[in-house]
Amino acid sequence: MEPIILKRPEHNVSRKNISSAAVKVLYRLKDEGHTAYLAGGGVRDLLLKRNPKDFDVATNATPEQIRKIFKNCRLVGRRFRLAHILFRGEIIETSTFRAPVPDDGDETVYCDNTFKTGDAGMVMRDNIFGTPQEDAMRRDFTINALFYNIADFSIIDYAGGLKDLDQKIIRVIGEPDKRFSEDPVRMIRAARFAGTLGFDIEQEALESICRNKDLLSHAAPSRMYEEVQKLFFCGHAKSIFQWLEKTGLLHPMFHDFSHWLGEDKKRHGWVIQTLEQMDRWRQAGLRVHPALLFALIFGEYHEFLIKNLEDAGQTPHDAARNAVHGHLLGMCENVRVPKQVIYQVCDIMGNQRRFERTQGRRPVRFMHSRGFLDAFLYFKFASKAHNQDQELLAFWNDLRKEHPAKPPQSKKPRKKKNTSPDA
Ligand code: ATP
Ligand code: MG
Repeated sequence: MEPIILKRPEHNVSRKNISSAAVKVLYRLKDEGHTAYLAGGGVRDLLLKRNPKDFDVATNATPEQIRKIFKNCRLVGRRFRLAHILFRGEIIETSTFRAPVPDDGDETVYCDNTFKTGDAGMVMRDNIFGTPQEDAMRRDFTINALFYNIADFSIIDYAGGLKDLDQKIIRVIGEPDKRFSEDPVRMIRAARFAGTLGFDIEQEALESICRNKDLLSHAAPSRMYEEVQKLFFCGHAKSIFQWLEKTGLLHPMFHDFSHWLGEDKKRHGWVIQTLEQMDRWRQAGLRVHPALLFALIFGEYHEFLIKNLEDAGQTPHDAARNAVHGHLLGMCENVRVPKQVIYQVCDIMGNQRRFERTQGRRPVRFMHSRGFLDAFLYFKFASKAHNQDQELLAFWNDLRKEHPAKPPQSKKPRKKKNTSPDA
């Protein structure tokens, strides 16, 4: 199939908008006689006039050849062998054009270029080098399969991504059922791109997700944790969440929580408010702690579980820890939340009762303790969301003004972009 090729000025991508590190990698590969394209989300975002999160390069140079050209390079990846070319503060992921996955579902091993399928036809390992066209066609969605060619500044479109960008559609390359069973995480990616870009998921793909959502239980829990963070930290958490609900993907990700949430409008109200808050923080450039994210999203569910345990006779302290720990540990079967984050969420919820104690030296001691800020941010959010504890909130706000946090002694002052969302 001949690709559609757009030359400048038929498209708006300018070399100036590509990071200087990526430009260096592209030119260096080209000067060494290789084909080198900017690929994936970077091209998509440049065409949409959005700021790309990262720049990836695809080339016909093999990983070994790439390593010889760049001193600042290391080869990584168990599943795909690819090169990370390191610049100060930036990594340019550079991969050799890859061929599609062979069609037979049997376990197959090729020497050197390896491919293997596991349960449910999922691709476990593949590193078969291919042509630019093959590389484009094995990507997930048409809008993610565009190339920018540094040699003549053209956009190369093998999969129909330009048209879908124009029409704001997330379309799977190939047969959705097959592509989602190869890698079920693609279903979450579809929801993420739809929510982030404000696009629609093409009908056949949407139906396929609804049919295949339970395949997500085959995805590696640690990869799912990475994906969950991308979903909720990207500044478009609310609309992504709505896609997760619409497609039914929420259930295999957060089984118990999604069951509790059901169709209940009030319960949804809380979750939507927390996601709006997350998006405001992110869009203001604030860094949000994963523990605070989980504490907030699951807040009302955790409060519900805590109350059940208190009613069963546990102390408030034990109930908070047991409820949160039990839920998040169970969730690890699908989404592996690191232990440290689980303990921090337990702390946030376990500390809530301390905001009721306003006598003596206790409040000041609590205020200077580790973990206070996240617990306070939760308390402040919950007070507002439930429209309660306004006097307590005023007390703690006053106390914080009277005892401002001491600036860190030895560390450099943080830039505003990286600060956490203080009250
Ligand atoms: P983001 O803005 O989140 O970085 P992205 O599209 O660049 O979005 P990456 O995870 O950086 O996503 O991946 C880079 C490119 O690699 C994608 O654009 C896509 O072409 C390809 N890709 C990534 N994950 C998959 C996958 N699971 N299946 C097929 N292709 C994928
Ligand atoms: Mg990317």
